Amino acid sequence: MSDRTVNRSANRIETAENCDSEFESDWIAVEAALAHIKQHVKPLTDAIKRPLRDCLGQVLAQSIISPIDVPGHTNSAMDGYALKGADLPDNDVVSLRILGRAMAGAAFPGTCESGECVRIMTGAIMPAGTDSVVMQEQSELLDDTTVKIGSGHRQGQNVRYAGEDIATGSEVFKAGRRIKAADLGVIASFGFAEISVKRKVRVAFFSTGDELRSAGETLGDGQIYDSNRYTLFGMLTELDVEILDMGVVVDQPGAVAQAFEQASQMADVVITSGGVSVGEADYIKPTLRKMGNINFWKIAMKPGRPLTYGQLGNAHFFGLPGNPVAVMVTFLQFVKPALQRLSGEAFKAPFRVKAVCQNDIRKRPGRTEYQRGIYTQLDDGTLSVELTGRQGSGILSSMSEANCLIVLHDKQGSVAQGNMVLIEPLS
Ligand code: AMP
Ligand code: MG
Repeated sequence: MSDRTVNRSANRIETAENCDSEFESDWIAVEAALAHIKQHVKPLTDAIKRPLRDCLGQVLAQSIISPIDVPGHTNSAMDGYALKGADLPDNDVVSLRILGRAMAGAAFPGTCESGECVRIMTGAIMPAGTDSVVMQEQSELLDDTTVKIGSGHRQGQNVRYAGEDIATGSEVFKAGRRIKAADLGVIASFGFAEISVKRKVRVAFFSTGDELRSAGETLGDGQIYDSNRYTLFGMLTELDVEILDMGVVVDQPGAVAQAFEQASQMADVVITSGGVSVGEADYIKPTLRKMGNINFWKIAMKPGRPLTYGQLGNAHFFGLPGNPVAVMVTFLQFVKPALQRLSGEAFKAPFRVKAVCQNDIRKRPGRTEYQRGIYTQLDDGTLSVELTGRQGSGILSSMSEANCLIVLHDKQGSVAQGNMVLIEPLS
């Protein structure tokens, strides 16, 4: 069965529109490929209970419902005097008798009547009979038991109400949320010491190519250092997945098959780089066809045309191109959203904003292009973006230099200096 038949019958992938001769009619548009991956990747169901602090950056496997009001009591937002709002003077000055003190963690036991007040500290429960707090700085202490208060205050001021932040029974976080620092604090404010999170996604990856040596080794004739495994390591680490680095695999069908076997047994996702074209040493696709399933392998994009997505046993398989920029771009556009979805997070469209382009960019309709750019914010707040220079898919330094990708959609043609373009910030 040809790839084309697989694509058409099993998966009904739409093809890129406006393809010119360079792009065959069965090349898949980026959006269609992404929709296809989204449809195939189902969130992991395994959950584990972990101590709260270990859950930073993890994905919630349960919803979080508040068992209490936060704050738990109506309390003072200031250090000052708690009193009855009805006693606050409109124009003149009033003297109030100080009954005692209310401290955070030590409530005032009595009740306040008209003409009386209680010295109160931030966080202390509002004493019975009081509804307003006057700041210490806006009062004048006459003696140990008398304080003078002027006009300009409002009933109910400087008071925090029970449950005003979070009320008992409210669903504060839904399952699928990636927990950030503020969330840890919110969850801790309910008293939960441990919560249920998704297990981390396991990702195995290796580079393919007879020419590759790892950093630290000595280069022979015609050999190059493997950089893809390092950029992949970096991008995977930033996504907080479990990483299984399988090194470099030589361009031999047996070696590729053995690595596939091993990787698919250990991991939820297998990523390779190189060997996905139609060259004589490109064994990824035929091996995947033999051992698993190929869903598609040609995407109307630049860089990154020959990208393979498929299944290898229970694992999802991504065969990324060999060229270093193409590896990063295809990872960011396809693998990252797939890993986020697998981890239980909602499928998020990448964050993109408009910027004024400072270069002319030649482009033909029919494919989506990702150019490396440097964006800056001008004094009036608008964004401006400039190309990094040489844009070849082997120019990895362009990714280091860039702080964004300029995303040119498939239907779009050339861009003239001063036109608005979409940019996708890189961090
Ligand atoms: P391939 O798709 O295997 O033909 O690779 C395309 C180009 O990317 C070739 O120039 C390779 O030498 C280069 N390449 C492949 N894998 C890597 C890697 N891991 N690190 C750096 N360059 C690579
Ligand atoms: Mg190769």
